[in-house]
Amino acid sequence: MSEISRYAPLFESVRIGPVTAPNRLYQVPHCTGMGHALPKTLVSMRAMKAEGGWGVVCTEYCSIHESSDDHPYPFASLWDDGDLGNLAAMADAVHAHGALAGIELWHGGSYVANLSTRAPSFGVRSAPARIDPVQSQRMDRRDIRALKRWHLDAALRARKAGFDIIYVYPTHGYLISEFLSRSLNGRTDEYGGSLENRMRLLRELLEETRNAVGDRCAVAVRYAANGHGDDHLSEDEARDVVAALGSLPDLWDVVIGDYDEEMGSSRFVDEGALEDRVAYVRKLTGKPVVSVGRFTSPDTMLGQLKRGVVDLIGAARPSIADPFLPTKIREGRIEDIRECIGCNICYAHDFRGAALRCTQNPTMSEEWRSGWHPERVPAGTGGSVLIVGAGPAGLEAAHILGKRGYEVALADAEIESGGRVSRESRLPGLAQWARVRDYRLGQINRMANVGLYLDSRMQASDVLAFGADHVLIATGAHWRRDGIGRWHARPIVPLNPSAVYTPDDVFAGRLPGGEVVIFDDDHYYLGPVIAIKLAREGARVRYVTTEGRAGAWSQNTQEQERTQRALIELGVDIEVNVALAAFEESIATLACVFTGRTHAVPASAVLLVTSRVADEALYRALVGEDVAAPPRTSPQSLPASVQRIGDCLQPALIAGAVYSGHRAARELGVIAPARPRERVLV
Ligand code: ADP
Ligand code: SF4
Repeated sequence: MSEISRYAPLFESVRIGPVTAPNRLYQVPHCTGMGHALPKTLVSMRAMKAEGGWGVVCTEYCSIHESSDDHPYPFASLWDDGDLGNLAAMADAVHAHGALAGIELWHGGSYVANLSTRAPSFGVRSAPARIDPVQSQRMDRRDIRALKRWHLDAALRARKAGFDIIYVYPTHGYLISEFLSRSLNGRTDEYGGSLENRMRLLRELLEETRNAVGDRCAVAVRYAANGHGDDHLSEDEARDVVAALGSLPDLWDVVIGDYDEEMGSSRFVDEGALEDRVAYVRKLTGKPVVSVGRFTSPDTMLGQLKRGVVDLIGAARPSIADPFLPTKIREGRIEDIRECIGCNICYAHDFRGAALRCTQNPTMSEEWRSGWHPERVPAGTGGSVLIVGAGPAGLEAAHILGKRGYEVALADAEIESGGRVSRESRLPGLAQWARVRDYRLGQINRMANVGLYLDSRMQASDVLAFGADHVLIATGAHWRRDGIGRWHARPIVPLNPSAVYTPDDVFAGRLPGGEVVIFDDDHYYLGPVIAIKLAREGARVRYVTTEGRAGAWSQNTQEQERTQRALIELGVDIEVNVALAAFEESIATLACVFTGRTHAVPASAVLLVTSRVADEALYRALVGEDVAAPPRTSPQSLPASVQRIGDCLQPALIAGAVYSGHRAARELGVIAPARPRERVLV
């Protein structure tokens, strides 16, 4: 059977209440870091998903009232008719490609602090906000009536804006889930006590939404199939809710209660990991079910359908990494799928209040501002390009320049391409990061105009002798051996050099043993991941960091708690809020970041994860900067342009290196127009 016919079941239409999804590939609601703040960026991004073949494209969480204000995160809002235009633009753009548009109505309850509106937040009881020192107002009966009115008004506006699927959202700790909670909901009236009473608000919202808009719109519920933990909604109770409300919504969008797992990174959670806990829902309801699982393999998707787990394949991250994933499956171009690597860099940027970005898809959020399409690039002006360094930046540049029709030579000193992603993907839990390399290698291997030259270390003279019209230097960066980073502006002194290691030593197979102090002033994944590796190999590891938690930045990628748990379970000693101050004679001196007080710990080696230095010697030699003797050459043999890209330009995330390579390749030979900015103008 051809791949096209094998995957045909994924492209059957599905009736959802009064509307019909054109296929089974469903972009579930996901945050964007755009919301009400960047509507044009948002419309173009969602439209791209629809163009790429997703049968349903949903908004992010969309606040129904000013008492649910998640500032500074840019949520969507539908507070009044003034919000209609932006959301209608999204629905129209999605419809233009034949997809259905869904909207996730949301009230944050006690979770939000309403930092912008300064309205009191509401809770089933007065409870602390997620971060801020603020408590919600306990809702009385009038508040419940008001909430239902706001929800209804928002549903009517959503219909007016053209949405086809309207969500009721009783999950993830927000207001409706507070009512479901046996411990939070202490009400003694018809909304509290028994499960029947605790689910009354959900039932009423479903019924009222359906009565108001059900003639034209489907009503969906986003629901945690395994409940919210025994203190709130047990697994059995969650099942009872599904049994009781089974046919009330037109669609069950099923998740699980633990958000860190529902959208867990590939370090901790596998593709399709939710199946065991969500599969029962479809058996209890006659309505279509959608669920997620970071699905990138069409065979895994088919398996979900065949086993009767779901009717629609839900995706957030796979649709970010590859907006054209459905089209590629439909056309049997499986090898062209740009698979999500599960790094959660997308989520991290939303969490930081910035527009989405993606390690695999550098065009994400650039659809409007830069006019970038994830599959199409403008033809180049012709000529040849030499790229030195086949890490993520060099590979992406070669891929895009190859597509643009340039003659591309990609050289790397190593015998394997991929640079840091190859090196890092051999560390515990990071195997899927190799997809960054493999997708690009797969693409350029099929391009006759791109040549890959491994085991080819290039000096400036080699570059000039090569005679390419343009040169991109993508030689990466290396980790510092002197301790300079966020905390230390100067080298650590004393530092016994014979027993100092960096991540580069680990990549090269030189592992410290014995009592190893890892000094993590980088705060992301590498320090903890190396700690896990060394501990597994038998070292006694002490992980010290200037932050208050292990891998503190990874709270943005929803990995921090699992990271710390993994270290604790492996017996790694964790010391927080300390800096490595000195290391000599098998003793490391640690200093408290608040008081400067020091204490000594035994250490046969220290491993520094502090900061990196760009490997830009080749670039500097080529542009004649800071070198005593620039390479001798006649002006005629100089390339028309020499640029640095990726970590060689700016040591940063892998996502940054891919973006840098992509941008340089897109803009080579063209004068890039000034990018428009979305901003409020008076
Ligand atoms: P980035 O993240 O910016 O892509 P990486 O560190 O992942 O950077 O990759 C840089 C690549 O450049 C490595 O694979 C390295 O082997 C290669 N490289 C560095 N210097 C040279 C050189 N002089 N000649 C050829 N390749 C080089
Ligand atoms: Fe997947 Fe990472 Fe892209 Fe998010 S940023 S969609 S997790 S590859």
